[in-house]
Amino acid sequence: NRRFVLAERPNGAPDENTLRLEKTKVPQPDEAQMLLRTEYLSLDPYMRGRMNDAKSYATPVGIGEVMTGQVVAEVVESNLDGFAPGDHVLAGSGWQDYALSDGTDVTSLGTAPENPSWALGILGMPGYTAYAGLLKIGAPKPGETVVVAAASGPVGATVGQIARLKGCRVVGIAGGPEKCAHVTETLGFHACIDHQADDFAAQLAEACPDGIDVYFENVGGKVLYAVLPLLNPFSRMPVCGMVSWYNLAGLPDGPDHGPAIMSTILRMKVKVEGFIIFDSFPRSVYEEFHKDMTEWIADGRVHYKEHIVEGLEAAPAAFNDLLAGRNFGKMVVRVA
Ligand code: NDP
Repeated sequence: NRRFVLAERPNGAPDENTLRLEKTKVPQPDEAQMLLRTEYLSLDPYMRGRMNDAKSYATPVGIGEVMTGQVVAEVVESNLDGFAPGDHVLAGSGWQDYALSDGTDVTSLGTAPENPSWALGILGMPGYTAYAGLLKIGAPKPGETVVVAAASGPVGATVGQIARLKGCRVVGIAGGPEKCAHVTETLGFHACIDHQADDFAAQLAEACPDGIDVYFENVGGKVLYAVLPLLNPFSRMPVCGMVSWYNLAGLPDGPDHGPAIMSTILRMKVKVEGFIIFDSFPRSVYEEFHKDMTEWIADGRVHYKEHIVEGLEAAPAAFNDLLAGRNFGKMVVRVA
């Protein structure tokens, strides 16, 4: 059994000392447990926060503890009712080959799920994040302009595609021409702006001739600063993440943007609302999401792209790639 534990807390981007690969015996389930073998490990930006010892919505991973993460796993042995060998499940076993579980917070995916790894993406946490954040906080109306960055990733791609289905003008922001082409051609956004372009802010303004009504905040940084002057009166900003800042070791250089941010919120009467997908919405919203998304995928109205990396050993480098935008689609590690 291989597993990655948190060896030390990173200062800035995680490096080769942050995680340690350990080899242990495959554990044996007791009479109230089952043994799970990881098939797919999800890599997600929130994991960077779990490496810090900071006050947040979840407790940090302890030094020496297995790095946290959602997985799709196969049941190998089970002493639990409702779970049998050969079943596939969604579980929180983290970065390791094998894990014991008492069934708490484990969802069965049945014996032969069609796309098992999708439970980590479009049909799981990131897809639900996009759906609930956009529709319940962003509340887009037909004809409005919706802007979202990280537009080829699982959250951003889904936000934009749902906004398009709701009749909005959708402008994505992504890193590089290949991602931007995918966002407009395959995902059907009306425009996609490359944030690496020198005249990024001017291009964004040109793509939003009627201003911005919903800015779904995924990245912070220069994208946020380019969006601020374009926000319309009574616009909405669901605050989902700010991945461009997750590796900050201290405050960034440059001007203090606090006054621009707060005065825009005030003058433009912007509704800014943060949310954490695990506990910000009632269960009924999850049920709505699951029903709608299953239909949209079946109809071909929503597309989904994964970036699959082979082997557990590749996870630390793949995680850094994710934070730096070197992923193209939902980052998933195929473990077994
Ligand atoms: P992605 O797979 O989209 O990966 C992150 C992407 O962010 C990168 O691919 C990159 O895309 C972009 N990015 C990184 N650095 C920068 C930068 N400096 N400027 C602009 N873009 C950058 O991630 P997810 O879809 O999984 O997550 C998107 C956001 O949603 C994250 O902030 C995440 O933390 C948040 N989130 C929040 C949840 C909640 O409950 N609030 C739940 C799930 C996710 P590109 O190359 O295109 O710029």
